[in-house]
Amino acid sequence: EAAINRIAAGEVVERPASAVKELVENAIDAGALRIGVDIADGGKTLIRVTDDGCGIAPDDLELALSRHATSKIDGSDLLHIHTFGFRGEALPSLGAVGRLTITSRVAGLEAASIRVAGGDMGAVRPAALNTGTVVELRDLFYATPARLKFMRTDRAEAQAITDVVKRLAMAEPSVGFTLRDVSGGGDARTVFRADPETGDLFDALHGRLARVLGREFAENALRIDATREDIRLFGYAALPTYSRGAAVAQYVFVNGRPVRDKMLGGALRAAYFDFLSRDRHPVAALFLDCDPTLVDVNVHPAKSEVRFRDAGIPRGLIVSALRHALAEAGH
Ligand code: ADP
Ligand code: MG
Repeated sequence: EAAINRIAAGEVVERPASAVKELVENAIDAGALRIGVDIADGGKTLIRVTDDGCGIAPDDLELALSRHATSKIDGSDLLHIHTFGFRGEALPSLGAVGRLTITSRVAGLEAASIRVAGGDMGAVRPAALNTGTVVELRDLFYATPARLKFMRTDRAEAQAITDVVKRLAMAEPSVGFTLRDVSGGGDARTVFRADPETGDLFDALHGRLARVLGREFAENALRIDATREDIRLFGYAALPTYSRGAAVAQYVFVNGRPVRDKMLGGALRAAYFDFLSRDRHPVAALFLDCDPTLVDVNVHPAKSEVRFRDAGIPRGLIVSALRHALAEAGH
């Protein structure tokens, strides 16, 4: 069982940033209003995610660490995944490849904690905590030295973590996020912070994008809101004058989940085709919402790929909605 967990873990957890993604998604699923992420040494020695969500009852702690145990869906409902994550894989995987401690408290119950290291689970013990959960992952991949070799510099891993946290922060404007670097045991350095946004969908999103992508983006951003065949596209796309030389300025979310997708990125560039030279890229944060059965987001647990049943619809929607918005803005 421990060996199987270690092999499977490599699928879910490729690097510190994928661990952060899984843990923050769990905190979001738990209904947290504030999520804190502390990392040390690019997440290699420490990743700690603190949330004020619903918590895990003491009796459920062992279950949360068991493979394929999820509180989120039953087996018959695999096509209707509204929440994040590859079901029931993340925590056991992390416990197989690192030293994992979960401390949690459900309102009205006592707090408790459990440890698992290299797949060996300890006993559930009483702990002290406010309502919510703290998941601490130390020494990622210490149990799988082959994986350790593939990790990049602390700086590169920290950058990948920052990217993951920012993408999730864009997807959840009403949740507050703090990312701190606590390397070296000295003072914590705040890397990123976004307080919960209020207001309607567009106000909250605009505020959050100003925080993540900068005021200049927000000031140059066109509001996008269009629907085609039950797929809704909304978000903000910047004027062509605010294009970037870097390709990584397009953020696309499908059903609230950050995805990287060539087809969707290509649709974005196609919409701007008449306005941008080859080496300039549009800056945009776009959300596609549709019936979950029309899209498969779990192509691979660690990859943020999507597969639409009919890719022509989202592609056409993006191109037409952006062209329309650009034309309205005088382009
Ligand atoms: P999944 O998210 O696919 O259900 P995980 O291995 O990530 O699988 O988590 C297992 C279970 O542990 C979840 O279904 C949930 O019940 C519980 N859990 C994990 N993290 C949290 C958290 N931060 N707050 C509350 N419950 C959590
Ligand atoms: Mg999960």
